Amino acid sequence: MRNRRNLTTALFSTVVLAACLTDEAQQAFEEDDNDDTLVGDGKADATASNGYRSGCGAAIRTGSYALHGDVVTPAGVKAAYYLVVKDEKIAAIQATKPTAMTVVETNGIIFPGLIDGHGHVEYNHIPIADLGKRYQNRDQWPGASLYQTLVKDPKNAVTAAGLQCEAIRHGEARGLVGGTTGIQGTPATSCAKSLVRNVELTNFCQDHVRQNVMTIAGFGRSISGKPSFADSIKADIAAKKLDAFAVHAGEGIDAHELAEWGQLKSFGLNVPQLVMIHTAAFTDTEYKEIGAVGAKIVWSPLSNLLLYGKTADVPTALKYNINVSLGSDWAPSGSANVLAELKVADHVNQKLWASKITDQQLVDMVTINPAKAYALDKFVGTLEVGKYADLLVIAKPATGTAYRALINARPQDVQLVTISGDPLFGTTTAMDALGKMGDYEVIDTCGSPRAIDVTVGATDVTRGTEKLADIESKLKAVNPKLTPVIDCTNDAATKALHGTSAE
Ligand SMILES: [Zn+2]
Repeated sequence: MRNRRNLTTALFSTVVLAACLTDEAQQAFEEDDNDDTLVGDGKADATASNGYRSGCGAAIRTGSYALHGDVVTPAGVKAAYYLVVKDEKIAAIQATKPTAMTVVETNGIIFPGLIDGHGHVEYNHIPIADLGKRYQNRDQWPGASLYQTLVKDPKNAVTAAGLQCEAIRHGEARGLVGGTTGIQGTPATSCAKSLVRNVELTNFCQDHVRQNVMTIAGFGRSISGKPSFADSIKADIAAKKLDAFAVHAGEGIDAHELAEWGQLKSFGLNVPQLVMIHTAAFTDTEYKEIGAVGAKIVWSPLSNLLLYGKTADVPTALKYNINVSLGSDWAPSGSANVLAELKVADHVNQKLWASKITDQQLVDMVTINPAKAYALDKFVGTLEVGKYADLLVIAKPATGTAYRALINARPQDVQLVTISGDPLFGTTTAMDALGKMGDYEVIDTCGSPRAIDVTVGATDVTRGTEKLADIESKLKAVNPKLTPVIDCTNDAATKALHGTSAE
């Protein structure tokens, strides 16, 4: 349970831790994502959906503690340093042990919390869907009968049972256990905001990010006399109300998808605030122009390979200095979270590109790059004094760099995850030391117990007090193939890579 809390009540101690869619699918996404108008309306507010941890009210926690370990900072890895958290923020990163506060000996490596550049969280209760073939573009697969039975039917069953909040919280829990502290692609509902930051809702008391999952060709269309999406985006940018907007672009491998960059240009949306998800169809020509404009891209190799057998040419994007983030997309064709997606990205990089992308560049794709893409880098994305304490601690291997350790980290290597300094997942030792004793559930993490706190007492979070076990049992009753919160298998990656040049 999370509520405003004072951590000074914890004992003072030092402890050791060891897709362009068809009309049918578009309609589905419109329902699911509550359309663009509800997702990032360009103004900070404190409505039911945006109250908890919006950054507009009082701090959600107060008090100080410190974590001891190797601290990954923009100035390099500080070995055996202390990262001090005061209230919701990082107060110091120092060599000397602080006094008068709980100090947790992590013996690990401390990273900024991971930011998932793109997902559809409400679908993540649905396991990987083998549609039996690969496609040319995102218009094609939503019409497949297997898509109906494997994806739409379980999704509709969960919606019909009134379990959308449970599905979102379950999907966010799957991210959290992999160190995800922020994610793009959560529908705006009163059950959002409870667990992982939703980047397009109100954060740090600002709401300057929008999204649209529809086909780009329709961005110029005016519906019911309202301005078209393109016009409304341009008006928001002119009014300085918009820092970023995320759209699906080039999702596929054919001319239809390749043409989408030209369509964006024709609408005047080739601007630095543009974040394009997938771009698998784009070539050197498009990336050169995208780089010149300063637009950003989100790379989802597993989803691309599973659906289309090919993914974005990321080394070329990097050649033109494009900001690249990693996104797990959604469970029916993607990884459980970006910690898992990092392994797919690493594999593709080795197999197809002779490791042209460095380990640090890969780690940047789940930390500072998405923070910059969504204009949150003043607040999160690196470990620096004054930023919010969104933290991920992983076990430190005997050899290798910190960056390689994160890429290789397995679910059981995750030691602690905090958002705004609030410990939400970790070893029971760490969670107990940080004041969470009695306020978590213990779940098996590939053979190791971990404590997870998904509950929140804030009155503006719908059914926030439901425990994870109850959420899972309710979802399982309508979707017997419910994805596990902790995925210890490599099945999704194996299926995605099969028969491709990256296998
Ligand atoms: Zn998507």
